[in-house]
Amino acid sequence: MIKTIWPDGAKIAFIIRDDDIGFFTSPQMLEKVYGPLWQQGFKTTLAVIPKHKAIDDLNVPPSFRGRNTYHSLNLNRNLVHYLENRLREDYIAIAQHGFSHEKIDGVHEFGISDRGELARRLSEGIRILNNALNVEVKAFVPPWEKLSKSALGVIRKAGMWAFKPSYKHYPSKYLDDPNIQFERFKTKFLDSYRRGGCFILVHHYWDYFSDWEKKITRKALYHHLQEALAFVDTHPNVWKTTLTEVVEWLASNRNYDPAPDVSISIRG
Ligand SMILES: [Zn+2]
Repeated sequence: MIKTIWPDGAKIAFIIRDDDIGFFTSPQMLEKVYGPLWQQGFKTTLAVIPKHKAIDDLNVPPSFRGRNTYHSLNLNRNLVHYLENRLREDYIAIAQHGFSHEKIDGVHEFGISDRGELARRLSEGIRILNNALNVEVKAFVPPWEKLSKSALGVIRKAGMWAFKPSYKHYPSKYLDDPNIQFERFKTKFLDSYRRGGCFILVHHYWDYFSDWEKKITRKALYHHLQEALAFVDTHPNVWKTTLTEVVEWLASNRNYDPAPDVSISIRG
């Protein structure tokens, strides 16, 4: 059993993680989703795709979807400028979300086993993120949650940590009865709270703007997010933090056993 001691006697580390930030992301969309949450004291870990490929996927806006072109983060100057400011204000932290978020011969990007190719994608991604935002990226989250053994080895060798979600706030999960889903969230959160865990809520900003509309159209989904965060806020001693801060804390705290053989470093 892993024993965790968080800073200032906190009972749980709570992280909001947004996958799929990249060239296509507009600051306006991030502001609409996160502005209110930052005011509540929540931070956000933005998992950034360094060089997003315009594949046929909902995470690519309709005008680019399926073109299969590559788009480096630094070419969206508005976004880079916006992220720099939010970093300075300590509202966000940056994690790496794959390299191009594509499939290679049908295999999810970091599910492949070619170590040379994985190392190249990882280091080129780190270089793009460093150059654009001047940050040291410490956390890695794989596209589609698919991580091969070779990929995990390459990530560890680079001194980075990989993380799995504790809870996915995805629209598909709310199709039936939203109350059932909220009950699931509460159960998972409370279990993690009791164990002193690290709880990672994963979602995508673009999911609230179906399909890349200019305003939040999935209002119920956003409402359920706020409901979940309000529930978190009814508990004392919650460390509202980021994956970067968690890695820094764990790396300097010997009370924690990061269980290196678990395929991903930490479970909620
Ligand atoms: Zn993704």
